[in-house]
Amino acid sequence: MLKTNTNCDVLVVGGGVSGVLAAAASARNGARTILLEKQNVLGGVGALGMLRYICGLYLCNDNLPADTLNSGIIREIVSLLNKLSPQNKITRLGKVFALPYSGFNLQYVLISLCLDEPNLTVLLDTTAISVDKKKETINRVSVYHSAKQYDIFPKAVIDCTGNADVSIMAGASYKIESLNNIQLAGYTVLLKGLRNQDAMLSIKVPYCLTEAVKNNILPPALKFTSYSIGDAPDEGYCKLSINGVNSAERELKAREYALAATGYLSRRLPEFKDAYITGSSMGVMDREKRRIYGEFTLTEEDILSGRKFHDGVVKNSWPIEIWDKNKGTVYKYLKAGDYYEIPFRCMRVKHIRNLLCAGRIISVSHEAYASTRVMGTCMALGEQAGRATAYWVKHGGTFAPFYS
Ligand SMILES: Cc1cc2nc3c(=O)[nH]c(=O)nc-3n(C[C@H](O)[C@H](O)[C@H](O)COP(=O)(O)OP(=O)(O)OC[C@H]3O[C@@H](n4cnc5c(N)ncnc54)[C@H](O)[C@@H]3O)c2cc1C
Repeated sequence: MLKTNTNCDVLVVGGGVSGVLAAAASARNGARTILLEKQNVLGGVGALGMLRYICGLYLCNDNLPADTLNSGIIREIVSLLNKLSPQNKITRLGKVFALPYSGFNLQYVLISLCLDEPNLTVLLDTTAISVDKKKETINRVSVYHSAKQYDIFPKAVIDCTGNADVSIMAGASYKIESLNNIQLAGYTVLLKGLRNQDAMLSIKVPYCLTEAVKNNILPPALKFTSYSIGDAPDEGYCKLSINGVNSAERELKAREYALAATGYLSRRLPEFKDAYITGSSMGVMDREKRRIYGEFTLTEEDILSGRKFHDGVVKNSWPIEIWDKNKGTVYKYLKAGDYYEIPFRCMRVKHIRNLLCAGRIISVSHEAYASTRVMGTCMALGEQAGRATAYWVKHGGTFAPFYS
């Protein structure tokens, strides 16, 4: 579908949950839109991470929420997921609510959503490799597809790469935490062959593994492992927490840890006697990656005080959930029934006129990232970025009338 030179109104780079919603919203609002994804599937971490719940969709309160906190395309996605799996009902997890889902269903819904938009072209297996700017405006994005390079000339760009690739290629400033401070990455394995499972296993498994770590039977990395029962009675998910930089060595270690944990559990817990690994997330998934410096940087204080903004475009009630390498998961909650807003300025990349970013790379502090990075919030951010960009392409000027 690509010609050597292609023009479009809006180019969205990255087909994770934020990118798909950005592209669908932009196309729906009349902009000729292209969505690029370097893998051959849409959904990013949400589709390939073997995750169990979409977080950040609902207000955290005492009562079961009737609907999502943010409206728009996000509600269509929830309703399509519900149709595919009516058994997956909104679930209370401690003080919060989340929606159970499967990566397969999410991929199906995201692809269908895109193919329903006549203004939207989706290019899979296509990677953005360089960006040209004139003054403060991106005028060309070069992409690589099937051993060839092509040039796309967009009027505006939305960076949804999950790692701020496009913004950085365009010269934006960014932040990445040091290895000491960065949140733990995750690696999930699907187990089969389990017997007589009950809800207590989600407590017994981490307890058993932590004891084994204390007694030097298992490596320290396994002390923050969590467990949840799968969809079938003989299935379960073990979520391992992994430290270190993305490398072949880390991938090997993750698999060695998974084998060691499964072997140990099969000797210690009768439910695991015949358990074996049958699948895994696509690899070790980094929880925290690069984020840009935008016109405003959201902080922990903004979140915990439930701060609202004149340009607040997305609401979120999800706690700050830090996966700390020394302490494990640490939660800081908002007041029950409260939410904070994410200002539009967090998506505006400083000094680049026609670029927005969305999803987990927006301008937030390390602590705030631990709340804004969840899928429900990334989707809502993508949708707002798509609407705003389509508006800007049509009307020019500033983005202000879009949110005011
Ligand atoms: C281990 C782990 C567990 C998590 N658990 C949960 C959970 O239980 N619930 C929850 O709600 N959230 C969870 N999250 C957070 C959530 O999944 C992610 O933060 C969110 O999905 C990010 O969405 P995104 O669209 O911003 O980015 P991503 O999902 O990272 O998508 C970015 C996409 O851009 C593509 N891309 C990158 N560079 C280029 C390029 N140059 N050209 C073309 N394409 C490119 C990538 O291939 C990718 O598909 C978890 C995250 C991790 C890592």
